[in-house]
Amino acid sequence: MNRRDLLKKGAVAGAAVAASVVGTSSSAVASGKKYRWRMVTAWPPAFPILQTGAERFAKRVGELTGGRLTIQVYAGGELVPPLGVFDAVSSGSVQCGHSAAYYWAGKCNAAQWFTSIPFGMDAQGMNDWFYFGNGLKLWEEVYSNFNLVPRPAGNTGVQMGGWFNKKINSMADFKGVKMRMPGIGGKVLAKAGGAVVLLPGGEIYTSLERGVIDATEWVGPCHDIRMGFYKVAKYYYYPGWHEPGSTLEFIMNKKAYDALPSDLKAALDTAAAELNVQMLSEFETENAKGLAELRKSGKIEILRFPDDVMENLKKLSAETIAELAEKDPLSKKVNADFMAFKKQLSEWNRISEKAYYDFML
Ligand code: CA
Repeated sequence: MNRRDLLKKGAVAGAAVAASVVGTSSSAVASGKKYRWRMVTAWPPAFPILQTGAERFAKRVGELTGGRLTIQVYAGGELVPPLGVFDAVSSGSVQCGHSAAYYWAGKCNAAQWFTSIPFGMDAQGMNDWFYFGNGLKLWEEVYSNFNLVPRPAGNTGVQMGGWFNKKINSMADFKGVKMRMPGIGGKVLAKAGGAVVLLPGGEIYTSLERGVIDATEWVGPCHDIRMGFYKVAKYYYYPGWHEPGSTLEFIMNKKAYDALPSDLKAALDTAAAELNVQMLSEFETENAKGLAELRKSGKIEILRFPDDVMENLKKLSAETIAELAEKDPLSKKVNADFMAFKKQLSEWNRISEKAYYDFML
């Protein structure tokens, strides 16, 4: 055997070793096998930032993989109902979805910490926890019980406190207020004496108009303008203490994910991280424009919750979250890690962002 044949033989042997180490991956690369995935979302068709972001993500995955992985996106209701995303991906009837983890609180209590909790971390803090703390590892652990692989994929930024038809000057003003407020925020409001009403998005406007409810929270100026709330409520309160940085999720069926070659997995990770950054930037940019529009209209008052109201809501939130953390061992573990991370980060944020914002703004 001459030197050339030896080299050739060595190369083939090397390739065989590589193939056996990574299993089917390299053979899939070699064969150029194509994967076609379907994605379901929790958002209405063409819904700005959220649905449009999910569609941009799918397009990016196609570009990054040279068409070897294509994702067909279905808005909420097109293939499964908006709140059917978790089950559809978990069961494997579709390969992936875009939604928010706190929608699944009824199936998985610990999921709530991966979206947002009242007085929790903002978007930057959540990303710090996911990427360089234990956040994503814990999320993967929690979701592995449902055959799901999660990735952070967008953030709303700090939301608004909500629309009211009565002023909130003290905690007593929450007594009897009928407010549409889902999630942990709703539990806190109930502790404050409010009457929590659960309504689907499409029924909020008329309920507010007819006085069926006195108040509602939604997201921020950009989306709230589209809902028309400024026509039927007088006061727009801030800040959104109940959702200080809601993370959106990209979830994959574990079996479908594990079947991909490693370069396609990397492409999905890259596209999800890109979506995570871009969606927050789009929210911030569009909310700033929306705020300017609302101010110009001069029709509503934009008010800050008084300090003592915020302090009391913070106390009630801490109680509520401590109770939720006791529901099961995984929730307890996630909460303990979240709180320890937040505590340490807060010390830094106090002398970085917070100190600077006082003079930048
Ligand atoms: Ca909200």
